[in-house]
Amino acid sequence: MQHSTTNGINPASGASASPTRESEAPQFPEPKPTGAQPVGSDGIARTFPEVPMIDVMGGASRAQINVLDHGFIALVDCMPRLVPQGQTADSAIVQAARVSYGHGTKKVNEDRGLIRYLLRHRHTTPFEMVELKFHVCMPIFVARQWIRHRTANVNEYSARYSILPDRFYTPNLDQVRKQSSANRQGGEELFRVHDDAQELKTAQDFMKYLDDVEGFYQRYLSLTEQGVSREMARIGLPVNMYTEWYWKCDLHNTLRFLSLRIDSHAQAEIRAYAEAMLKLIEPLAPATVEAWRDYDVGSMHLSRLEIDALKSLAAGGSGTLASDNARERSEWGTKLERLGFRA
Ligand SMILES: Cc1cc2nc3c(=O)[nH]c(=O)nc-3n(C[C@H](O)[C@H](O)[C@H](O)COP(=O)(O)OP(=O)(O)OC[C@H]3O[C@@H](n4cnc5c(N)ncnc54)[C@H](O)[C@@H]3O)c2cc1C
Repeated sequence: MQHSTTNGINPASGASASPTRESEAPQFPEPKPTGAQPVGSDGIARTFPEVPMIDVMGGASRAQINVLDHGFIALVDCMPRLVPQGQTADSAIVQAARVSYGHGTKKVNEDRGLIRYLLRHRHTTPFEMVELKFHVCMPIFVARQWIRHRTANVNEYSARYSILPDRFYTPNLDQVRKQSSANRQGGEELFRVHDDAQELKTAQDFMKYLDDVEGFYQRYLSLTEQGVSREMARIGLPVNMYTEWYWKCDLHNTLRFLSLRIDSHAQAEIRAYAEAMLKLIEPLAPATVEAWRDYDVGSMHLSRLEIDALKSLAAGGSGTLASDNARERSEWGTKLERLGFRA
């Protein structure tokens, strides 16, 4: 911005201007106001930061992690994007929580204590003050699980408007999972493709099946070229095709998404995205993520029956759960293992 006035006096320096033309005059940075300013001619009172503001994304317009064979998750924006030097997006949470006291952040260690208190006591709304926007490319079957998290704002690629690109998720042969016998939804154990001929053949059959459905892509293209509408042609495509969307969500609900999708009960493919998402957001709000690890994802909920069983264990009893539900008893067994009572 040009600071010379028509009388040749530069307001930044107070010195007389040289006789050069205005465009050649030396440039001086405009003095930046700090603190609260009086109401301007537009009726707006502006406050400027006392310390320099920094970008929590380090100046990057995009921070991306590749996931699966053709997918990715990229953080493309967030709020707050600019924070006072030495702070992180955690400061927006503290600022909101302290609104009742009429002032913003204090010392970073006090902020951390407040964040931990808020998270421990499920005082959730301050965590909604941080917003995160991601660009994600994932298989349609992952998107179907992801979309169930209703508190986000989503805008997805339209296969009515555009041809779906030729991208299919195909795990490696040694990543093919068996149906779990304990968990009806899960598949954790892998086919032993290196030392069992029958299991190798089954895994190969699965790969062949994926190959066959991928073959439908050429027919999809051909049918659209013959005039079949894109919205009809796509309905025969498999759910391992990749789709893309922008997904914007506040930090509170993002952490809720992560708690559910980073868990070992979530399908491995969506878990891979959740782990990448966590890696992207941890530097933005480190105190919050630390508290979430301590009080949420790494914590354990105990039911009334489980507390009674634990009390019985502490008193020298068996610690048996007073329930005839086999699944509940098995879950109690898992908790006892985590607590170190069982190997
Ligand atoms: C391992 C696993 C297995 C699953 N299996 C299945 C399955 O077999 N079938 C199936 O259908 N789903 C399944 N789901 C999806 C699951 O039931 C939830 O829909 C999903 O996890 C989203 O959770 P949420 O509702 O807490 O999240 P969100 O939708 O993000 O909701 C967050 C919070 O906001 C509240 N909220 C959101 N929208 C509203 C609203 N309109 N009114 C009132 N409150 C609202 C919710 O109650 C919740 O407290 C599974 C999820 C997981 C993690």
